[in-house]
Amino acid sequence: MAANKNMDDSKNQNKDAVATIVASYAQRSDVTPDQIVALAAKLLPVFSVPGQENADPATGAHAVAPDAEATKPKTMVPAIPIDQAVTDDKVYCLICGKGFTMLKRHLKAEHGLTEDEYRKMFGLPDDFPLVAPNYSKRKAAYAKKAGLGKYRRDTSAKEGLDAR
Ligand SMILES: [Zn+2]
Repeated sequence: MAANKNMDDSKNQNKDAVATIVASYAQRSDVTPDQIVALAAKLLPVFSVPGQENADPATGAHAVAPDAEATKPKTMVPAIPIDQAVTDDKVYCLICGKGFTMLKRHLKAEHGLTEDEYRKMFGLPDDFPLVAPNYSKRKAAYAKKAGLGKYRRDTSAKEGLDAR
């Protein structure tokens, strides 16, 4: 019985060791989420105790996956550096590194995220651009022009009526 207890203890210690290593690795700014997952996948068999009943022999899935999930840092490590995620013509998805004119539709379609969830995921400020600056400038300029034209027409028409 004493032997069994020791085995359980060492199992828990091993899990803690993996969690500690993965967590500290995840703090590095040059590490991608894929690399963290790959590291956890590599470490777990090394530390795991033979006969662990959680392992699924059918799929080969590691019993480890939930643990790796739990040790993930709150903010995800972006696929590309945040200071390179916005250019004049494109904004880049920090999850997959693809560039777009605007991210909203891509985030929803590819990652099932709202803009808010995406910002929170990477700890981005509320004013972090998710639309390419040149595109939003053009759009704003167009809206202003269209709005102004309409306003002028309405005003002059009204003034015309008032004058009579
Ligand atoms: Zn993406």
